[in-house]
Amino acid sequence: MEYIKSRVRDVFDFPKKGVVFKDLTTVFKDPRALHIIGWDLSQLYRDKGVTKVVGIESRGFIGGSILAFELGAGFVPVRKPGKLPADTLQATYEKEYGTDTIEIHRDAITEDDIVVLHDDVLATGGTMLAAYNLVRSMNPKKIYVNFIIELSALNGRSILPPDVEVTSLITY
Ligand code: AMP
Repeated sequence: MEYIKSRVRDVFDFPKKGVVFKDLTTVFKDPRALHIIGWDLSQLYRDKGVTKVVGIESRGFIGGSILAFELGAGFVPVRKPGKLPADTLQATYEKEYGTDTIEIHRDAITEDDIVVLHDDVLATGGTMLAAYNLVRSMNPKKIYVNFIIELSALNGRSILPPDVEVTSLITY
């Protein structure tokens, strides 16, 4: 894990003043770090019968795809409005300034699925909570929540339902 940590780039004042952005492009471009991420993420879910990994646009698509591939599961994108071509379900949620909406294809998840929801970074948790509620409304057997990085000072974990297993590879 120290190797991955050493590859995370802190970008100050991005996307706005006062934010320290955890940039994972410097992890993903490093072949060894990418390999470790795939292995470590998949070890968390090896025996859980996962059938779908849901990745959140857009940085969640990278780790989410790798995790799905490693587990032999399918991959499902959660996207910003207007991007998915077929019939969708939507969730709108509060952001610091205004609201945001995310979408998933209505036929993406079935009641037989065991799902891992994945994003790169857990900050306030608002985005993941909205994605969780969206997937929950489709009644899969089980939902796990996963991040590569968790920013514990922002306490995003606390807004996710208490009975949901939330795992992060790296906590700051
Ligand atoms: P959240 O506040 O948890 O809803 O985060 C919103 C989105 O922005 C998520 O996809 C996070 O991955 C991303 N994000 C928020 N804060 C950071 C940060 N400091 N560094 C990197 N990504 C972030």
